Amino acid sequence: MTKKAAGKKAGKAKKYVYFFGSGKADGNRNMKDLLGGKGAGLAEMTNAGLPVPPGFTISTEVCNIYYQEKQEIPAAIDREIDVQIKKLEKAAGATLGSTDNPLLVSVRSGAKFSMPGMMDTILNLGLNDAAVEGLKRRTTNGRFAFDSYRRFIQMFGNVVLEIPKDVFEHEFDAVKKATGARLDTDLDEKALRDVVTRYKGVVQKKTGKSFPQDPREQLKMARDAVFRSWMNARAIEYRRIYDIPDHIGTAVNVQMMVFGNSGDRSATGVGFTRNPATGAKEFYGEFLINAQGEDVVSGVRTPQPIRELEQVLPKAYKQLREITTRLEKHYKDMQDFEFTIQDERLFMLQTRSGKRTGFAAVVVATDLVAEKLITPKDAVLLVDPESLNQLLAPGFDQDEWKKIPAITRGLPASPGAASGQAVFSADHAVEWVNQGKQVILVRRETVPDDIHGMFVAQGILTATGGMTSHAAVVGRQMGKPSVVGAGELEISESAKQVRVKGQTIKEGDFISFDGLSGEVKLGRVASKPSEILQVVNGTLDPKKSELYRRFNQLLTWSDKFRRMGIRANADLPDQAELAYAFGARGIGLCRTEHMFFGEGRIPIVQKMILADNEKDRRKALDELLPMQRQDFYGVFKAMHGEAVTIRTIDPPLHEFLPKREDLMVDIARLEATGKSGRDLNEKKTLLARVEQLHEFNPMLGHRGVRLGITYPEITEMQTRAIIEAACQLAKEGVKVVPEIMIPLVGLVKELRDQKAIVNRVAGETMKANGVKIKYLVGTMIEVPRGAMTADQIAEEAEFFSFGTNDLTQLTFGFSRDDVGKFLRIYQEKKILDRDPFASIDTEGVGAVVRTGVQLGRKTRPDLKIGVCGEHGGDPSSIHFFENVGLDYVSASPYRVPVARLAAAQAALAVKVGD
Ligand code: ADP
Ligand code: MG
Ligand code: MG
Repeated sequence: MTKKAAGKKAGKAKKYVYFFGSGKADGNRNMKDLLGGKGAGLAEMTNAGLPVPPGFTISTEVCNIYYQEKQEIPAAIDREIDVQIKKLEKAAGATLGSTDNPLLVSVRSGAKFSMPGMMDTILNLGLNDAAVEGLKRRTTNGRFAFDSYRRFIQMFGNVVLEIPKDVFEHEFDAVKKATGARLDTDLDEKALRDVVTRYKGVVQKKTGKSFPQDPREQLKMARDAVFRSWMNARAIEYRRIYDIPDHIGTAVNVQMMVFGNSGDRSATGVGFTRNPATGAKEFYGEFLINAQGEDVVSGVRTPQPIRELEQVLPKAYKQLREITTRLEKHYKDMQDFEFTIQDERLFMLQTRSGKRTGFAAVVVATDLVAEKLITPKDAVLLVDPESLNQLLAPGFDQDEWKKIPAITRGLPASPGAASGQAVFSADHAVEWVNQGKQVILVRRETVPDDIHGMFVAQGILTATGGMTSHAAVVGRQMGKPSVVGAGELEISESAKQVRVKGQTIKEGDFISFDGLSGEVKLGRVASKPSEILQVVNGTLDPKKSELYRRFNQLLTWSDKFRRMGIRANADLPDQAELAYAFGARGIGLCRTEHMFFGEGRIPIVQKMILADNEKDRRKALDELLPMQRQDFYGVFKAMHGEAVTIRTIDPPLHEFLPKREDLMVDIARLEATGKSGRDLNEKKTLLARVEQLHEFNPMLGHRGVRLGITYPEITEMQTRAIIEAACQLAKEGVKVVPEIMIPLVGLVKELRDQKAIVNRVAGETMKANGVKIKYLVGTMIEVPRGAMTADQIAEEAEFFSFGTNDLTQLTFGFSRDDVGKFLRIYQEKKILDRDPFASIDTEGVGAVVRTGVQLGRKTRPDLKIGVCGEHGGDPSSIHFFENVGLDYVSASPYRVPVARLAAAQAALAVKVGD
């Protein structure tokens, strides 16, 4: 956009800056795209008549313009900001740059999705050498005025001028030392004046210029720095992890300052309307007397629990409780809020849906329904499907755990059991995890730059900081077990060790902690299945598990709202049982070849493969038949009459044979020892067959339907085993619905060939058993040609199941097994946003799926269509499958709960066909 067009569009000026104050705001809660989450919240609270300091929000569009215009803001937008400053000055009763009544503001970042600590905020902007004296005169509080100024220079110096924090901290500590101060609050005006002088010296030295004195210049520089922070490395990494697009930009909020650092009747704090770790309905948070916002989270002073505020500042406390209760009702969700009390007067500075653990998400959602604040439908929409995985994660085996004494205890910031080797930096965490180790990231306090290490660690342990510190917030959000503020730990990150109660823990030593109790122990502790899994496995009575009751409640609600069926990918009877207990109704993919790996079976399978004539092959298959039949029997039974889709043999045969290299080594060894005879001969025959079966590109080779076509006796045996098992169950009075699925079909004639075999053998088998069974013959759609000719294929196929793993592989031409070599670089270069094997590529692979569905249903309008690739358990892919109108998704057993919830959310959000 040109500068002119940015200011004027079709003659009418476009709005880029939104005011809030004096009980009225230009924006509201629904404008997160434009105002960011923070800006929308401030507008909404203002409209609700809550005490919010006035200000204005520069929209996210300006952030994009800033980047388009090579880091310049068009003059028209600058003028719009000037108009809003005038308005703010009026509302605040103070003037920017005035020496006797200066307006001070904060400049706050805030994108649509909150990104804790990733971007920057500057407080007390507007101060300069003259204004600080004015502030002192007006407040008759010189200590406060200079405390505010030194904070401003430090934040501005760091964020805008990019001077490292420790340079300032060094000066600050020197003054503290010289004056014998223990706490920051011990410094008096004189000492703080000294700090300010030193800080200005730092700025002069590091930038070659003096600290900018013109507040308008300060504001522009701060605004632009916030826009720049959108593209800092840690923000980019954060967005990558959470799949947040880069193009949405951040808003900038400019807001009148209120002061929690103006004395002992002032305070600042943060909190939650419920416990974000457990979901318990309790007021939860922390505050500091005589402090400014960033002190609470930065860990410089240890904050007090919020209930103590009731004693110190009872009136403000009462009002805070009233307001936050109201906010929770208004937003119909647990809120996370920030407040400041200036001379006993309460101000609200932020509200948003609180980040929470998976446990808390389920507890809060079910509680809010019980409290009649929301409906079951709202509850279903409130929980992130992925977060359910936390409820399935194992905990410690309590017997083992109790045997070990705790070395220390910290705050239980995020529940879960963590065991691993101690590492002291995020980079090491990543390095060690890449070597296949499990690590616990131990830090004095984490900083946003640690995000990559936190992501890969089993758990996070810190020595300082409270329940709302960075480690706690991010740990909860990631669902990582975290214990914070374990103050007895004397951590030396440079020496890579911790001392605690006379013991030393070095890098690489095993430690374990429980994120629910806060206990930390030395050593490794065995884990035990989660409570939910114990119920599902039948080892715990569901009535004894409150958590299971809620989990089940939420998923039962989900079942009411979803349209698609949920099946599971399960190959063996015990997996099928687990999937059923998790709520799968049907099996979408039973891979028969996995049965071949069962005990004692491989030699028979090898015999089948090694046979160089049909007769020998049939002999081996006859041996396999009863085993397969028994497995099918078990799988059918576990599904209680729901459909079971069985895929005929799919992988290249050499997967069942020993490796060529291993055989060559064996042979060489036997020959070297001078041995000859049967053993050697057998190995040589095996090697010859392995070499014969060798393929240059096995994934594109002799596999799938191609095996059934070249060795029809395999399809025969598998059909017989399936139908015999079904007949047996039918005789026992158990309903069975077998769906026989032919993989890798690209040509209708391939399917016709196999279907004829299946129908013939099924007919014979049923006749021999005197039972009639209803079964279907269908195909996997996983070769692009199959999708593009789906109208022809549907003439034979009675159902389709999209094999999106192979379909992705074949549509992109990316080998699934080799993609790791370049995918990361593709993502870094923004050639691809996501791993297409984890989340379906809706544009390309999705188009192939869509075509397959449309063509298939053109021939057979009632064609049953599902998906059985990994994508069947991925929430955003599930959304897409709802969209194209599939009948079901099939996911691995552990992902069935995620799929149930995601399918409900998709159905509530999507109209089929759009
Ligand atoms: P973050 O997104 O990292 O929480 P914020 O913009 O919310 O950053 O601000 C950081 C801290 O400064 C918070 O504690 C906030 O409450 C405080 N703060 C922001 N603006 C003001 C203001 N106008 N007056 C007083 N404190 C403020
Ligand atoms: Mg904040
Ligand atoms: Mg496949």
